[in-house]
Parts: sequence; structure tokens; C-alpha cells
Amino acid sequence: MKKQIAILGSTGSIGTQALEVIEEHSDLYEVYCLTANNRVKELAEQARKFKPAAVVIANESHYEELKSMLADCPDINVYAGKQALDDIVTAGPIDMVLTAMVGFAGLSPTIQAIKAHKKICLANKETLVVAGELICKLAAENHAPILPVDSEHSAIFQSIVGEGDNKIEKILLTASGGPFRTFSTEQLATVTKDHALHHPTWDMGAKITIDSATMMNKGFEVIEAKWLFGVEADRIQVLVHPQSIVHSAVQFADGAVKAQLGVPDMRLPIQYAFSFPERLHLNGERLDLFKHNLEFFEPDLNKFRCLALAYEAINKGGNMPCIVNAANEIVNRGFLEDRCSFLDMPRIIERTMQTVAFDANPSYDTYIATDAEARRVAKELMG
Ligand code: NDP
Ligand code: MG
Repeated sequence: MKKQIAILGSTGSIGTQALEVIEEHSDLYEVYCLTANNRVKELAEQARKFKPAAVVIANESHYEELKSMLADCPDINVYAGKQALDDIVTAGPIDMVLTAMVGFAGLSPTIQAIKAHKKICLANKETLVVAGELICKLAAENHAPILPVDSEHSAIFQSIVGEGDNKIEKILLTASGGPFRTFSTEQLATVTKDHALHHPTWDMGAKITIDSATMMNKGFEVIEAKWLFGVEADRIQVLVHPQSIVHSAVQFADGAVKAQLGVPDMRLPIQYAFSFPERLHLNGERLDLFKHNLEFFEPDLNKFRCLALAYEAINKGGNMPCIVNAANEIVNRGFLEDRCSFLDMPRIIERTMQTVAFDANPSYDTYIATDAEARRVAKELMG
């Protein structure tokens, strides 16, 4: 029986690479459902090719357009809206849900998929940033495995396979450092979105590319690692590694350090999340260590304030990471639309953290309310 996969965010960077993996291993995997937000034409093209049982367009205003584009495909059910996303992930035949949509919007469908006991292949790190504690609790209660797709977390996961109960002493979380790694604060004051969108080693969606330039992405990954692997933030060390060859590593009680290395290619962590514990063939460049000079540096928290703010949020706990995520989504979009500068981003996030009410023991409803309030505050601060 082929494994049935739902891809949330199939038109994005992770989504399209996941479809490449599925196409390459069409003897093992089948697409059950594809979803997007606005890119109707791309979604319809994917649906024609992969013939899923269902497609969902999150933005309901595109429903009629999508429906008419697929009018001659009666076997594909077409749905629209947020509720449809929550519903579709619970469909009986689905074995795995790849959460490859961007932002807070991933939280609700991820929760529904966990409650329906689906295996989660998690790319949408914002879900764990916002509600890591709740997600881990639900996953344990519902026996829903969460397999990391983020390259660093996949590397950590691959490094602990076979280690049984051996405790992790320390996680070494690598970061490329982004396009502004060597910039001074004065230079950071004038950088543009066009420059920020050119990541040195990875080709990703716009939001995460900006998060990589500010290093908020790495802060989010510290939070993600804490929840996925049960390791406190003070035992997660960020190492700037410009070559992006060592995808992350784990240190054990005897000092042994295990890492996963490879050329940057997101298809590997996506495929490993699908196929675990098996490894499947992957067409692509092989690592030639003679070609790479591997370097490691300490991150500069004064220059990359977003990383410092993420650490502050982790230490504070409660709904603080949710506040940071919401404010970050607002300033990230603001920077992409030339409504705030690069250095405005951490300033606005910090002010939002100081303004929104703190809650040490948030429920799901608290997260929803916190997210809305933090967005409102951050928008107001951005002007
Ligand atoms: P993209 O922007 O390339 O794609 C995002 C996808 O989500 C698109 O299909 C988009 O639809 C859909 N989407 C966006 N907003 C919504 C919404 N509100 N509701 C429903 N669907 C929505 O992002 P990436 O593929 O780069 O990233 C996806 C996730 O994976 C992020 O959480 C990111 O942090 C994480 N990730 C990505 C990596 C990468 O290499 N790209 C690496 C590690 C993690 P549409 O196309 O219609 O806009
Ligand atoms: Mg990553």
C-alpha cells in the first residue's frame, strides 16, 4: 500500500520539493491532498499532475477560480477556507501530513492532524515556536509522531537514531549566518529586501529568507529543538557555519559528537521524514569534503538582536514566544513591503514583547488571543 500524504502549502519551496520526492518514489507515496493560499494556477497544475483526492485553497476568494480550473477533473474535490484545512487533515486515508505552510496559520491544522493520529512531517516551525508545549503534549497523548523537516533538526534527529535512552548533553545548532553575516551594525541600517532575499546557501520562501537574514530563524530553531528533543536552551549552542555542510550535531555524555553532513538540499530531510527509519535513494550532488573548508564562529547577539530576543522569549516561556512570532510575522511582511527598515524589525518586536500581556500558563485560546493582540501592537508600532 502506498503511503498517502497531505501537503499543506504545496506551492511553496518545501511543498514543491516534497512533490519532487514523491514523484521520484511514486511506488511508495501518493498525494492525498494539496493546499495553497493564493497561487491558484500553480495549485491547479499540481492537482492535474498528481491527481489528489482533494485540494484546498485557504483564501476563500479564489474558490470559484480553482473550481473552474479543475472542472474537468471530477475525481478531485475542491474546498476553500481555514476550516476546510482543519477538516481535510483528518481524512481517514491520510498517513502523513507535511506541514509546509508558513506562519501561525499552520497551528490549527497541525493540531487537528495530531488529534487524528496522523504522522506529522513538520516544516512549519512557527507551530512549535508558538505552542511547543501544547503540541508536544497532544502528540504524546495521541501517539502522533513528529518528524522534523527543518534541515538542522533532521540532522539532530539523524544523529540520535540508535542512541536509545542515551541522553543528549548538548546540541550544536549550525547557522549559515545569512547574507549579512560579516556586516557591521552601520551597514545593517541600510540593507534592502532585495539584498536580504539573496540567501548564500539555501533557496527558500521569502518569509524564512528574511528570518535567516535577521537570524530570527535561528532563534526559532532553538525553540523548535527544545521542544522536539527535550533539551533546554542553555544546552543548545548556535554555531555560525557559513558553508552549510554540517547541518547540526549532538554531543553525548562521553563527549562524542555525532553530526549529519551533506550539500544543502532540502529534499533529503523531507524524504527522510517520509521514509524514516529507511533511507531511500536521492538523485543529487554528493558531498566532496576536499572542496570545502569548514568554518565555525560564535553568533554576534549585539548585531543580530532578533536572536537575542528569541533567547529572551525562551527563558521567559509562557506566551512570550507566541508574542515574538506574531510581531515577527508583522515586521517581516513590513520589511518585504518597504514599510520598515532592517533594524526596525528587532526594535518593534522588543517593544511588542514589553507591551502585550504575559501569561505563564497559556491555553490554546490564550495563544489565539495573544497572536491577535501582538499583531495589533506590532502594526501600530510600525505605523
Ligand atoms: P513558501 O512561502 O515558499 O510557501 C508557503 C506555502 O504555504 C505556500 O504553498 C503558500 O501558498 C502557503 N501559505 C502561505 N500562507 C498561508 C496561509 N495563511 N494559509 C494557508 N497556506 C498558506 O514557504 P517555505 O516553503 O519556504 O516554508 C514553509 C515552512 O517551512 C515555513 O514554516 C518555514 O519556516 C519552513 N521551512 C522552510 C525551509 C525551506 O527551505 N524553504 C527550511 C526549513 C523550514 P501560496 O503559494 O498560495 O501563497
Ligand atoms: Mg533550518
